[in-house]
Amino acid sequence: MTSEIVLIGRSNVGKSTLFRQLTRKKVKVGRRPGVTVGPAKVQVGNVVYVDMPGYGYMKGVERNVQEGTKDFIVRRFEEQREDILLVIQVIDAASFIEIADRWDARGEVPLEVEIFEFLTELDLEVIVAANKMDKVEYPDATLDGIAERLGMLPPWRQWKDKIAPISAKAGEIEPLKEIIRSRLQSRV
Ligand code: GDP
Repeated sequence: MTSEIVLIGRSNVGKSTLFRQLTRKKVKVGRRPGVTVGPAKVQVGNVVYVDMPGYGYMKGVERNVQEGTKDFIVRRFEEQREDILLVIQVIDAASFIEIADRWDARGEVPLEVEIFEFLTELDLEVIVAANKMDKVEYPDATLDGIAERLGMLPPWRQWKDKIAPISAKAGEIEPLKEIIRSRLQSRV
């Protein structure tokens, strides 16, 4: 039986960079934002890594296309829930709090929080890959703030099996790999 590890994230958070690191293969990086030609898939051992299209605001892409991407993601998760072992939600740790608070101040649920909650409600196991940690000045405070906004009580270190601080660009993704390894080992 193969199961999927699915990567999702707002565009530009470094999802493709991480996908390449995890799969160690050259994956064609689409330079046409918003064009959903189906997710990229790479098999590693008996797991298939799936790279979903980036969601949220994209420069030069119309709002209805952005909404379409979100619908596509939601539908795919609902339909293929049974095949999914883990979801890795990649966020940009350097901008997550500021963006979430901006949405919150407008009285809206931040998109990334909405997606996290949607997946959790589907009973999927979601790992938050807090990427671009190299750009973060105060790592612990930032990770506490991220945890809090996702409904996990700080300190974030209580959630080391849910939150993985990484720098995909530098190849520093060990905390995430550790979570994946332990999840694969405990698979029944
Ligand atoms: P995607 O749109 O989420 O697939 O993002 P990409 O993988 O294309 O990365 C978007 C930008 O973020 C690129 O310029 C990457 O080089 C950069 N990036 C990715 N990971 C990191 C990281 O860990 N730290 C920093 N500083 N930049 C990163």
